[in-house]
Amino acid sequence: MKIAVIGTGYVGLVTGTCFADCGNDVTCIDKDARKIDLLNAGGIPIFEPGLSEMVRHNAQAGRLMFTTDLATGIASAQLIFIAVGTPQADDGSADLSTVWAVADELAKHINGPKIVVIKSTVPVGTNRAFAERLVKGGCQHPVDVASNPEFLKEGAAIEDCLKPDRVVVGVRRPEVAAVLRELYAPFLRTERPFLVMSPESAEMTKYTANALLATKISFINEMANLCERLGADINDVRRGIGHDVRIGFHFLFPGAGYGGSCFPKDVNALVYLARSLGLTPHVIDAVNRVNDAQKKVLGRKIREHYGENLAGKTLAIWGLAFKPRTDDVREAPSLTLINELLALGVSLRVHDPEAMPNIKAIYGDRLVYSDRPYGALEGADGLAIVTEWQQFRNPDFELMRRLLQEPVIFDGRNLYEPKHMSEAGFTYYSIGRAVARPARA
Ligand code: NAD
Repeated sequence: MKIAVIGTGYVGLVTGTCFADCGNDVTCIDKDARKIDLLNAGGIPIFEPGLSEMVRHNAQAGRLMFTTDLATGIASAQLIFIAVGTPQADDGSADLSTVWAVADELAKHINGPKIVVIKSTVPVGTNRAFAERLVKGGCQHPVDVASNPEFLKEGAAIEDCLKPDRVVVGVRRPEVAAVLRELYAPFLRTERPFLVMSPESAEMTKYTANALLATKISFINEMANLCERLGADINDVRRGIGHDVRIGFHFLFPGAGYGGSCFPKDVNALVYLARSLGLTPHVIDAVNRVNDAQKKVLGRKIREHYGENLAGKTLAIWGLAFKPRTDDVREAPSLTLINELLALGVSLRVHDPEAMPNIKAIYGDRLVYSDRPYGALEGADGLAIVTEWQQFRNPDFELMRRLLQEPVIFDGRNLYEPKHMSEAGFTYYSIGRAVARPARA
């Protein structure tokens, strides 16, 4: 099939590349000329495991093209995917300005019958409004507008794209579903479901999925905070509940709060949507509030340990990306911690395997950046861990104790066993578990 993908970010580049990998001709379009120039020069603008090789391979095979020119990019496409960003507006709603900008461009340039597929996460009703906008914008050709929400996870995006748990499409005509089923057939060979519904239900499916996942995280964080006060261990409790098949283990890890480019803004957009209908979204409102508070938990523990006067202290931070295996720092809990500590006059030495350029773009020389995790510890009074990168799970504790001025760790991801940390000579704060103190003097 001939496919155009508008918006070459985390979603557009991954899905476009996966479509090309199945033999389709794909043109990725973006208005950001730097991104397109980099891709045309053989580079890649984001970190996503395995993506770089896959982009190069498909580009060299002539199946994957990049352009800033929308009119040429869509000219021969039968399917046009939209994967532009839908960030949060000031009032909490989804900012659809880029989606509408694309609609207006498409209305001018569509040159024949096409299927436009909205992959961006958009509020219920956007599909219908998009179709109307094309007509109002002067589009003379028969165009179907379908919805196809994306469920991939950064850090495992290729795997999720090639082997999705399910594909959801929202269509108004069965013929459109048939085209999309054919496109997705290579990804669904192992009997993975292809679910056809109305565009409204497809749009709502995406928000419901993210709101429920965010709810699980805020729920377990609330239980973790209770455990700390009650002398219970959230990890034991988690295991105690997870074996119940109605509950399970997925997405029930306590931590320093969720971030990223999806959960925070999508939960807020759903809250806004409900309020605009005169409804009070009690559960998801609370999910939001719990998460905002949870992002401040590490800062609170640090202040409790050192006292309120932190000026002049130096702390190391391991993990800046909002989750491991990505360089994305949008809404990352690390930002909340960094902002709080900088405001208190703390000097920060930070390390992340992939996200340092994105953090540097925000904080410049206000932080000290270390290429190596242990380098960040040199001369630091303590260490805070915000992202659970694999390489932090089994570190050299002896070396860490030698490098830190004081052997104290504030772990926002429960990477270590408190008993082990106590034996290794650390004061160890984690989430939902008692503070471990050094066993030796
Ligand atoms: P992104 O910010 O990484 O990429 C969006 C791209 O669109 C940018 O490169 C931007 O330059 C480009 N763009 C903006 N306006 C344009 C225009 N008029 N013409 C051409 N290009 C334009 O965003 P993302 O993380 O890929 O997310 C895209 C959508 O997918 C969002 O709605 C998001 O909620 C949804 N989503 C994201 C994820 C994820 O993990 N990132 C997962 C599922 C769904």
